[in-house]
Amino acid sequence: MQLALSAEDAEFRDEMREFFTTKIPQEIRDAVRDRRELTREQLVESMQVMNAHGLAVPNWPTEWGGRDWSPLRRHIWHEEMQRAYVPVPLAFNASMIGPVIAQFGSQEMKEKFLPPTANLDIWWSQGFSEPDAGSDLAALKCRAVRDGDEYVVNGQKTWTTLGQYGDWIFNLVRTDPEAKKQAGISMLLIDMTSPGVEVRPIELIDGGHEVNEVWFTDVRVPVENLVGEENRAWDYAKFLLGNERVGVAPVGATKRVLAQAKEWAGPMLEEDPLLAARIVELENELLALELTALRVVAHSADGKPHPASSVLKLKGTELQQAVTELVVDVAGPASLASGAGDDSDLPWWTRRSTPVYLNFRKASIYGGSNEVQRQIIARTILGL
Ligand SMILES: Cc1cc2nc3c(=O)[nH]c(=O)nc-3n(C[C@H](O)[C@H](O)[C@H](O)COP(=O)(O)OP(=O)(O)OC[C@H]3O[C@@H](n4cnc5c(N)ncnc54)[C@H](O)[C@@H]3O)c2cc1C
Repeated sequence: MQLALSAEDAEFRDEMREFFTTKIPQEIRDAVRDRRELTREQLVESMQVMNAHGLAVPNWPTEWGGRDWSPLRRHIWHEEMQRAYVPVPLAFNASMIGPVIAQFGSQEMKEKFLPPTANLDIWWSQGFSEPDAGSDLAALKCRAVRDGDEYVVNGQKTWTTLGQYGDWIFNLVRTDPEAKKQAGISMLLIDMTSPGVEVRPIELIDGGHEVNEVWFTDVRVPVENLVGEENRAWDYAKFLLGNERVGVAPVGATKRVLAQAKEWAGPMLEEDPLLAARIVELENELLALELTALRVVAHSADGKPHPASSVLKLKGTELQQAVTELVVDVAGPASLASGAGDDSDLPWWTRRSTPVYLNFRKASIYGGSNEVQRQIIARTILGL
């Protein structure tokens, strides 16, 4: 297989490399490198710099800021961004609701929401999961009842990532309780400052606050905030989740951490052949994943995600978790010192290794759990 880039694509890669390593502020890139939590302001600044250069939403239609790049170029853009420790554009905006509005929204909705979504002037949250509707998402109960020119929304969402920063939330709501479960669901865009919206934090095992519960009590939403048609949102949700799954297989970021792990291991690589073999195996698997990712992008026609996005989600998150575990093992006993402060003699990466390991247990759950991805693969790819 030919892996070398053409002269034009190599030039494109150099342009991307130059941009990401010179235009995104160094302190933001340092925070990503050191696996520190980024502030809202840092994430907004980074995406706005990209958007100002036409590099935030290349996957969107060109009239809304997309770039008509080949799949290979989109891959290079994504890889170079991760290689330079640049935070990827906020997924809720760039790869979830943006493409859904561009594909299914009215012209007014596109004009109102797409420019501020690309520029992260609006921070979107994803209101899909509920306490009894995760893997079985179609069991969702959050209810929207039409009342004149408005819907009145009551119910609860959960696991809402970074909902504490959210300006707007794209919510799946039940509009027809009599219909077969998938057939009675609609998507509403809800201003999170509306009366009756309440965001409550959930504290995670690593001590961080990354997810929330969001409660809706008699929240009034104008009917023009309905995406597409009433009761048709299951199709829009499937479209969105397919994109999400491709996005949650961050090959470049995992490669970067693996390269760091090799540096941190230092002489252990020669002293411990089992460790060296484990790293080589992970490198090979990452290369195979990268080639699969390219294949999936190349075969995604009409903006519809390829069913193999489930393979990417499954394998990508398995490798991501394997690498976080490797870093804990390389850190050894120092990995237990996660409570030590910056004045500790232990290197920062050893102190961060356990919280990061714990945090990434989430990866095989969100975006549709890995067990559920196996079922999708069995049904849609293997035809079982
Ligand atoms: C850190 C984090 C961030 C998240 N962010 C968001 C967000 O921003 N917005 C949002 O809407 N949601 C979000 N989610 C929710 C996520 O999509 C759900 O957690 C996920 O879909 C699983 O649902 P559940 O947690 O209800 O688990 P359940 O569906 O109750 O599953 C429990 C276990 O049973 C297994 N299981 C369930 N059904 C099957 C089956 N049919 N076959 C085999 N095994 C099965 C699952 O794999 C899992 O191991 C987030 C989750 C996490 C952990």
